[in-house]
Amino acid sequence: MLDITDLSVSYKGIEAVRGATLSVPGGGITCLIGRNGAGKSSLVNALAGLVKPSGGRIVLDGKDLSRAGAATRSRAGIALVPESRRVYGSLSALENIWLGARGNKREAEERLASIIELFPAIERFQDRGGNQLSGGEQQMVAIARALMCDPKVLVLDEPSLGLAPIVVKAVLGGIEQLALRGQAILLIEQNGRAALRISQHAYAMARGEIHSLDHQSPEFNERELQALYL
Ligand code: ATP
Repeated sequence: MLDITDLSVSYKGIEAVRGATLSVPGGGITCLIGRNGAGKSSLVNALAGLVKPSGGRIVLDGKDLSRAGAATRSRAGIALVPESRRVYGSLSALENIWLGARGNKREAEERLASIIELFPAIERFQDRGGNQLSGGEQQMVAIARALMCDPKVLVLDEPSLGLAPIVVKAVLGGIEQLALRGQAILLIEQNGRAALRISQHAYAMARGEIHSLDHQSPEFNERELQALYL
């Protein structure tokens, strides 16, 4: 469904992403794990059209989006939940979520109901202002807003960052349920173990390079992974 081929990103001569190749199939979770500074955010920002890559191709469902702007990529079905979450403080949680809605109102209401099934806590805080939400609540709002546009691929940049372990569980649990419903997800995480546990496909990134991981094989060496990437 989504194919990133030989993608590179440079900032004034510093190569943050070097020839990265990664595929996200039509349903389930593909994770990309790696330490702080490995180049993960640069890769997802290039995928969403927020930074210009120095080379490579991005193809979604056979459509070449390599030269498309951020709005075209979003319309084509790539939805990014950025690390910063970008929840508006002056709007309520629910108003923030509705910002993502597209098209027919009845369909959007149905989508909202199905999103609330994934993150039931939203009902409890939906009328609270964005600036009154905890980190975990903001993360749920940011994911819900991205889902309101019915994306083909949901890209999550470090959704568990800064959250308490019990909240991480609720957020990752919702993401897992979403994948079981057939949503294609690209999950970027420093929290590698938790991400690997819920992912069907996995990649690791270090110093701008991506390697695919055979994390479900019995020979998979988690210690080695830890030493190299986490
Ligand atoms: P984090 O977990 O902190 O988001 P990351 O794996 O997402 O880390 P990136 O943020 O993509 O890594 O950073 C990769 C490299 O590119 C780092 O060395 C970083 O300092 C550098 N970098 C990132 N953004 C810029 C920028 N706008 N200008 C210059 N260098 C940058």
